[in-house]
Amino acid sequence: MYDVAIIGAGIIGISIARDLSRYKLSVAVFEKENDVSMGATKANSAIVHGGPC
Ligand SMILES: Cc1cc2nc3c(=O)[nH]c(=O)nc-3n(C[C@H](O)[C@H](O)[C@H](O)COP(=O)(O)OP(=O)(O)OC[C@H]3O[C@@H](n4cnc5c(N)ncnc54)[C@H](O)[C@@H]3O)c2cc1C
Repeated sequence: MYDVAIIGAGIIGISIARDLSRYKLSVAVFEKENDVSMGATKANSAIVHGGPC
C-alpha cells in the first residue's frame, strides 16, 4: 500500500514525487512508457516561462 500514487513521470509527476520525498510518505509513480519524461517534457526547450507579472 502507498500513501500517494502519482500517474505520469513527466516533470510535474516527478516534481511532486520529489517534493513529497521530504515527508514520511510512501509514494508510487506510475508511468505508461518505458522511461521517464517521454511525454511533453521530452520536447521542452528549457526556457523558463515566468508567467504574467
Ligand atoms: C515542443 C515543446 C517545447 C516546450 N518548451 C517549453 C519551455 O521552453 N519552457 C517551458 O516551461 N515549457 C515548455 N514546454 C511545455 C512543457 O514541456 C510542458 O508543459 C510540461 O513538460 C508538461 O509536463 P507534464 O508532466 O504535465 O506532462 P508530460 O511530460 O506529458 O508527462 C505526462 C506523463 O504521463 C504519462 N501518462 C499519461 N497517461 C498515463 C497513464 N494513464 N498511466 C501512466 N502514465 C501516463 C505520459 O506517458 C507522460 O510521461 C514545451 C512543450 C513542447 C511540446
